[in-house]
Amino acid sequence: MKIFTHDNEHAVVVKRSPIEGKGIFAKKNIPANELVMIIKGETITGKECERREEEENNVYIFWNGRYYIDTAMTKKIKYINHNCEPNCDVLERDRDSLNLVSSREIKKGEEITIDYGYDEIYEMCNCTICSK
Ligand SMILES: [Zn+2]
Repeated sequence: MKIFTHDNEHAVVVKRSPIEGKGIFAKKNIPANELVMIIKGETITGKECERREEEENNVYIFWNGRYYIDTAMTKKIKYINHNCEPNCDVLERDRDSLNLVSSREIKKGEEITIDYGYDEIYEMCNCTICSK
């Protein structure tokens, strides 16, 4: 696993997205295989995750392979949109966080996206690939 010494969170800004609602965008060019930002939130159990998704319609929960990380209270990462050809991957970090890593070079002004990876997203996808 690559050790990252710094992130690029200062270079990420929230704006309206052509995909849906708000999105996060690069303020400068970000090279491939860089830590864009650390995904951190409230670490919760699978049971609590299910409750928040069902009762509160919370769609901001990530999974690190063991725990669920609710990012609803965050200022940036909660707005990341899905794309079928994303420019970032979500990679393992530790119990309470995940790494958001660029899978290719991201140009200044480009929206930062990931593959949400669950079936429903592909059925009504509005990403830059599917809406072409
Ligand atoms: Zn799509």
